[in-house]
Amino acid sequence: MPQAFDLVVIGAGPGGYVAAIRAAQLGFKTACIDNFKNAAGKPSLGGTCLNVGCIPSKALLESSENYERVQHKFAAHGITVKDASIDVPTMIARKQKIVDQFTGGIAGLFRKNKVTSLHGTGAFKAAAAEGYTIEVTTDGKAEEIQAKHVIVATGSVPRALPMAPFDNELILDNAGALSLKQTPKRLGVIGAGVIGLEMGSVWRRLGAEVTVLEALPGFLQAADEAVAKEALKIFTKELGLAIRTGVTVQSIEKGKKSVTVAYAVDGKDERAEFDRLIVAVGRVPNTQGLNADAVGLKLDARGFIEVDGDCRTSLANVYAIGDVVRGPMLAHKAMEEAVAVAERLAGQAPHVNLDNVPWVIYTSPEIAWVGRTEQSLRDAGVKYRAGQFPFLANGRARALGEPAGFVKMLADADTDRILGVHIIGPFASELISEAVVAMEFGASSEDIARIVHAHPSLSEAMHEAALAVDKRTLHI
Ligand code: FAD
Ligand code: NAD
Repeated sequence: MPQAFDLVVIGAGPGGYVAAIRAAQLGFKTACIDNFKNAAGKPSLGGTCLNVGCIPSKALLESSENYERVQHKFAAHGITVKDASIDVPTMIARKQKIVDQFTGGIAGLFRKNKVTSLHGTGAFKAAAAEGYTIEVTTDGKAEEIQAKHVIVATGSVPRALPMAPFDNELILDNAGALSLKQTPKRLGVIGAGVIGLEMGSVWRRLGAEVTVLEALPGFLQAADEAVAKEALKIFTKELGLAIRTGVTVQSIEKGKKSVTVAYAVDGKDERAEFDRLIVAVGRVPNTQGLNADAVGLKLDARGFIEVDGDCRTSLANVYAIGDVVRGPMLAHKAMEEAVAVAERLAGQAPHVNLDNVPWVIYTSPEIAWVGRTEQSLRDAGVKYRAGQFPFLANGRARALGEPAGFVKMLADADTDRILGVHIIGPFASELISEAVVAMEFGASSEDIARIVHAHPSLSEAMHEAALAVDKRTLHI
């Protein structure tokens, strides 16, 4: 008899592992299937986020930022460091140690919560009134398990350009970009999105000449226009990234040790030769290997699993969450959907508000936002008031030596309800939480303006931005 579970989760990224843990806490007999193997060929839980995404990228950003500080920022404090150098293999080993600790931690959490962890590829085999037969294939060997409910959390994979398949030697995806053994002299990046900017920053700070080629005419168009403008200025003038927008990549040719990209920009044909090329042009939902057709699991036109607002798929008792469904491809979005689905299975009535999902880009300075951008409000004809406060006038930011950037708040002109908050500056990733809480509680800019904020703290910039909405800042 195949093993039978109340719930089988396919995928153990932040969506899948969190769903499995929460369901087990709620009393479901739960199994979680995952097929990720790390560079050492070992099964490693945690999906893209823990293995080749959020966590390793932040580890490298921190290492490279430290190197930048030693070289360029310590002198102002009177600290002299002679002959600073970076040992890339040590930096990569530190990153891998952090990854291994966290991925091993998930295995521990599964044991603690009595989640059955199965390594292999999970595929739908058959559907019947009592549930689904799921086939788990590991190294060519298949076994079957039974599931009353299924949560699909198979995530996403990098989109390759047809002319430049990834080899992770010269043409790198996210995994390759996070594992370089030495700093390339000339690094090309196709796509000025989140990965392009984060990875471009890492290798630029370590000494690479970095050229970023972006197809869209504008820079960082998903962000608020004022933030994008400030970011472009800092990334090009201070960090030294060469960012070209409005680029049409025409061909990518691999040589023995380099890659040549031919592209058109501003009506001219150009060519550039790189020692390594990162292609970061977005990610696509990963439904390969699921055998979705066998049971009639519906995908939309872009290949995402079709779901309703509660993550229900076209099949009874089958849910899908995270990167494999609509909405932002962010770990925290996947985790919240995971908890909500597990609780819904247990008869509770949870809710995830996709309108208030914060975005963070971990460049230096960091960029974070929640809610509507100024351009989207203007385009929609919404009447709003905007308040902005620069970190230059914030004591804590000056003491940190991080005076670049600002907080910008947008509030409804009639009701004063906060519609969006945009930050570029130090610890924007942490500061944005206040805005998320405020917006979830339907706060007005005046609510923030009347809350006591610690002094001196970066959060005072949020306070002042709220005061600025009503044109009554105190410190500029
Ligand atoms: P995934 O994490 O992709 O996990 C899916 C898992 O399912 C994988 O382990 C996969 O191998 C497995 N799988 C797939 N198919 C099957 C199958 N048929 N059977 C068994 N297993 C299967 N997001 C943030 O919020 N913050 C960040 O700072 C951030 N940084 C990032 C940096 C990089 C370089 C990248 C690439 C992404 C980053 N992201 C970040 C995005 C984040 O990683 C994803 O949004 C998140 O991992 C999605 O979680 P998920 O559970 O949906 O899927
Ligand atoms: P992205 O969507 O952020 O950026 C891709 C960029 O590539 C876009 O600007 C797009 O216009 C450009 N592009 C597309 N085709 C192109 C082409 N042919 N030539 C030149 N440019 C082209 O995607 P990404 O950077 O690959 O990251 C994927 C996703 O992973 C992100 O959207 C995000 O959801 C997630 N992620 C999040 C974080 C974070 O939260 N800090 C970090 C990394 C990744």
